[in-house]
Amino acid sequence: MTDVDKIYQKVVEKNPGEKEFHQAVYEVLESLEPAISKHPEFSKYKILERIVEPDRVIMFRVPWMADNGEIHVNRGFRVQFNNAIGPYKGGLRFHPSVYLGIIKFLGFEQIFKNSLTGLPMGGGKGGSDFDPKGKSDNEVMRFCQSFMDELFRHIGQFTDVPAGDIGVGGREIGYLYGQYRKIRNNFTGVLTGKGLDWGGSLVRPEATGYGATYFAQEMLKVRNVDFKGKVITVSGSGNVAQYTTEKVNQLGGKVVTLSDSSGFIYDPDGVSGEKYDFFLELKQVRRGRIKEYADKFNADYYPGKRPWEIKCDVAFPCATQNEIDANDAQILVDNGILAVSEGANMPTTPEGVEIFLEAGISFGPGKAANAGGVATSGLEMSQNSLRLAWTREEVDQRLHEIMKNIHKNAYETAEKYGAKGNYVIGANIAGFMKVARAMIAQGLI
Ligand code: NDP
Repeated sequence: MTDVDKIYQKVVEKNPGEKEFHQAVYEVLESLEPAISKHPEFSKYKILERIVEPDRVIMFRVPWMADNGEIHVNRGFRVQFNNAIGPYKGGLRFHPSVYLGIIKFLGFEQIFKNSLTGLPMGGGKGGSDFDPKGKSDNEVMRFCQSFMDELFRHIGQFTDVPAGDIGVGGREIGYLYGQYRKIRNNFTGVLTGKGLDWGGSLVRPEATGYGATYFAQEMLKVRNVDFKGKVITVSGSGNVAQYTTEKVNQLGGKVVTLSDSSGFIYDPDGVSGEKYDFFLELKQVRRGRIKEYADKFNADYYPGKRPWEIKCDVAFPCATQNEIDANDAQILVDNGILAVSEGANMPTTPEGVEIFLEAGISFGPGKAANAGGVATSGLEMSQNSLRLAWTREEVDQRLHEIMKNIHKNAYETAEKYGAKGNYVIGANIAGFMKVARAMIAQGLI
């Protein structure tokens, strides 16, 4: 058994039942092996043993009242994983599937992702098993206020700065921020993803999808191709899927699928123009189901299915974890796919990743490909501190540069450690090195 295997075994024993967390740790530890053997100081200072243990885990009760007067109780979480290179930073997820193992997997990944952006941000994540779907605005507001009644004491602009994730968009950030401001009586950049009129940054809503597309553009460049005329499959239809679709359209690609947890639509002519506008209004304003797109434009609808059987050049999984399994990955490879850019966090199972890597396609793991969201949150924090607002062009240009740098860093690091073209190894090692060095420099804490 190697040292890395022993550390992983211990993580499994000490965190029973948290299978997503085990999966995220395994993927990172496995790919760090070349760096660990080259740098004995990491073993001496027990960096791996330390980095898999969060700084702290906060779990709390969130009681709230429904419109009909019934009282509900949900569970809230904030995992502050590692702040060696900056304040904890990471989103809040509201989804019925949320439990400690999901928040820990996301917080752990966030450490390396945030490091890769080049900005000073540590890793954290939070959320609740509350389901905003089907709730009225007032119910969502009361829930957010109750959630913040506890969260406020653990966060701060120099301590921990949450943002959105699944189920937490502009509406939820608004209610959370309002409550924080009322309790603390101060107006600071304690959350990102805020509205433009009250401290938000231009391009933050678009940033994760735009960034995943810029990352894919860089991967395609290595292959001497671009998006023009390429067929693209996207899963999900939330924030990340929406702006991936927009950017792919701008770059000349054709997005032919979108999905939600009920099924997927297939539109061989592409989701663009007035069809894209309808889709955005359907999801952002009416909060409807993706099937309505198929009904309106006579596209195909596949209930209960994921879009990976549709032949494509580039795939963007933008819904949730483990949405591409080995079978899906094999179908994508057999259909001649060139690249996969993970808009979601850990959407491909380890077996699926193995198939992509063995087939030699360009595989952009989430912690690199979707880092544009948190990077732009970092830019929102900078603007809040400066008390300035940059223009759309300026933020987009910075985001684009950051994504190019992440790609370059991951690509060159993989090459340096003898794994050319393997962005999993490149991103994990590049993200890890900076945090590990900071942990050594700051002593045993
Ligand atoms: P949204 O809540 O805006 O959208 C989520 C989408 O994924 C919806 O279409 C939803 O369908 C679908 N979905 C969620 N859970 C499942 C499931 N279990 N099975 C099938 N479909 C599902 O979230 P985001 O777009 O913000 O997030 C999507 C992914 O991107 C997540 O993995 C998130 O962690 C990641 N991410 C997001 C960032 C951001 O800035 N928002 C930053 C980096 C990563 P339905 O409506 O039916 O639930």
